[in-house]
Amino acid sequence: MHSDHASRFTVIAHRGASGYLPEHTLEAKALAIGLGAGYLEQDVVLTRDDVPIVTHDIFLEDISDIALHFSGRQRADGHYYAIDFSIAELKTLTRHERVNHAGHLVFNARFPLSACRFGIVTLAAEIEFIQGINKSMRRNVGLYTEIKYPTWHRAQGKDITRIVLDMLSHYGYRARGDDAFFQCFDALELQRVRRELGSDLKLIQLIGENAWNESTSDYDAMRTEAGIAQVATYADGIGPEIDQLVRWPGRGAAAQSTGLAPRAHENGLKVHPYTLRLDQLPANAPDADAVLHALIEAEQVDGIFTDFTDTVVRYLDARSSREPG
Ligand code: CA
Repeated sequence: MHSDHASRFTVIAHRGASGYLPEHTLEAKALAIGLGAGYLEQDVVLTRDDVPIVTHDIFLEDISDIALHFSGRQRADGHYYAIDFSIAELKTLTRHERVNHAGHLVFNARFPLSACRFGIVTLAAEIEFIQGINKSMRRNVGLYTEIKYPTWHRAQGKDITRIVLDMLSHYGYRARGDDAFFQCFDALELQRVRRELGSDLKLIQLIGENAWNESTSDYDAMRTEAGIAQVATYADGIGPEIDQLVRWPGRGAAAQSTGLAPRAHENGLKVHPYTLRLDQLPANAPDADAVLHALIEAEQVDGIFTDFTDTVVRYLDARSSREPG
């Protein structure tokens, strides 16, 4: 590979600089821009009044104080769903670092639970924030927007896909040449985006595991030669898990390729794996640099989602300084 690959390499701040500040806060997004991210990720769900907000789950009790403020508004399954609240209600909440059901930090070394007042952010506010910093810093940081559970939203009577595409278009993100990627786990929905809704945005087919029940898509079939060829008929790239590309079979073992990245490249698809986390490396991987080395030098991936933007930027800088001329 040559240095032009490095300059085109897509560093995607996964939920912002979420390794350092609570995910999907504007503070985490600002830090990611400062650390050199090329794209910021937005996971998007809808409120009761159809406002797209930037948050990872369709329920909010793991990342906010919603249960304190709106006790009794949870559904029978115990979850406080964003879609049951108006944006005015959600703006009264304070976001915090992600916790588990016992109220403990999911990642112990990350930002503590604190008195800091982080808010729920709308997609419109985040886009204006990014465009504002792009103006003031003369940057061109892009959007990397994911719609969450479109089939579930439709069952609740809402077309999240159309609402989000309309908003992106309103802010100038419509075509492949624009600084935006549009990602989804649901293959049928992504096909709808391209074919029925006629979007010309860069589309990324996320690839999960069937056991997650993310969508009705069959991710085992999707990773085969025929499956990847089918993805290439509507998408510009894939977003697989790191260990769907490369694995370390044991401690001290060399990385082994699954063959998925070359298969995607043969079909003209970009490859943007998720998620590089210093505090949750792939099984048996020795360290973050070894993961980056395997992904970038061997698998030739085109970008990476990371909670730790600076780790990837530092690797790319060291790499380009090693290269002659
Ligand atoms: Ca995501």
